[in-house]
Amino acid sequence: MIDLHLHTYYSDGTMSPEALVRLAKERGADTIAITDHDGMRGLAEGIEAGGIHGILVIPGVELSTEDDEKIYMHILGYGFDLNNTALNEEIEYIRQKRIERNEKLLSALNEIGCALTMEDLQLRDGQDYIGKPTFALALLRKGYVSSYGEAYAEGKFMRSEAVRRVHREKVSAEKAIGLIRGAGGVPVLAHPMKIARLLKSEEENFWDRLDEQLAKLKRLGLLGMECYYSSHTPEDTKRLVCLAEKYELIVTAGSDFHGTEYESGISIGGFYTDSKFDENTMAGQIQNGISEKMML
Ligand SMILES: [Zn+2]
Ligand SMILES: [Zn+2]
Repeated sequence: MIDLHLHTYYSDGTMSPEALVRLAKERGADTIAITDHDGMRGLAEGIEAGGIHGILVIPGVELSTEDDEKIYMHILGYGFDLNNTALNEEIEYIRQKRIERNEKLLSALNEIGCALTMEDLQLRDGQDYIGKPTFALALLRKGYVSSYGEAYAEGKFMRSEAVRRVHREKVSAEKAIGLIRGAGGVPVLAHPMKIARLLKSEEENFWDRLDEQLAKLKRLGLLGMECYYSSHTPEDTKRLVCLAEKYELIVTAGSDFHGTEYESGISIGGFYTDSKFDENTMAGQIQNGISEKMML
């Protein structure tokens, strides 16, 4: 089994890389990728744990990006050089911006009567990543909501007007793709069905717009697309695999598992697969990084 989209507590996941690798092994995975948001701190630990537990751990990252039309997308990067200076510098810059954003988010939640403090967002010693899901979990722990999902109810809490006013500067899709390629990695468009701005349009229109978007991303150097994903229906999957073939993109698979505390029903390797699903080819293509064929 393969799962190329997993989070640890180095971003908004709840497990250590070692615990995640152990669980993946128990669930029958041979190849996984750790893809924390805007950070690479868990990678060395995860790769080491992979060696101990006999499972291949591919280094990954998930960058939140925006393009020139303000289309918000997550770009996954795989198999890059962990010590690449440009990539590390950008990640440090994003981290600083996130810290500033979190202070504003906290004030916004205070403003609507949720008395959270920075301490409520610290889930463990040494934690240096706080994302929106961390706020949602804190709201749950403090009893402001009775389920994780309620924190994202329309017009409330994380979707209240005060919170919506807080914006974080995002790296451009062009820059993210360039940084990953520059570090010898493979950039992949994550969960295409979650690109909100494209989904706002009519359903058929969505597929046309995604097609255009892929043409653009391909020109920028995109090499893959996450076609198999925990929330994709068989129909979505089929259409996405066709689009990946059209643009000669590597087809990847990931669950986006964040840990069991989220009660999302997502499990490692938990995504629909069809007859075209070929985990060996997928693992090989990702592992080889930018192969000679793709350089042409
Ligand atoms: Zn994502
Ligand atoms: Zn993710």
